[in-house]
Amino acid sequence: MSDEKKLTVVIEGSGYSGAPGACRHGSFNCEVCELDERIAELEAECERLRGLVDELHDPDEACRYDHHGYCQTHSLGERPCPHERARAALKGRG
Ligand SMILES: [Zn+2]
Ligand SMILES: [Zn+2]
Repeated sequence: MSDEKKLTVVIEGSGYSGAPGACRHGSFNCEVCELDERIAELEAECERLRGLVDELHDPDEACRYDHHGYCQTHSLGERPCPHERARAALKGRG
């Protein structure tokens, strides 16, 4: 690559604001936009998993623990029962 060509590439990649194809930060390879995208993906994933937990858990039957700390309602492991944890995780959300 000639020096002239290299210089052109550097200038094009330097985040000149308003250039066609640049992001709203004026960059062609923007870390902020990449992180925004990643956060949006993770939020969507989180919502999907919350929806799944919501469908899987028992929203009505309260957990009743025996004196060993085992949930008798759901015949599951020790306190706190996964259903109780699911209710807590979903608390305050639609
Ligand atoms: Zn950006
Ligand atoms: Zn339970």
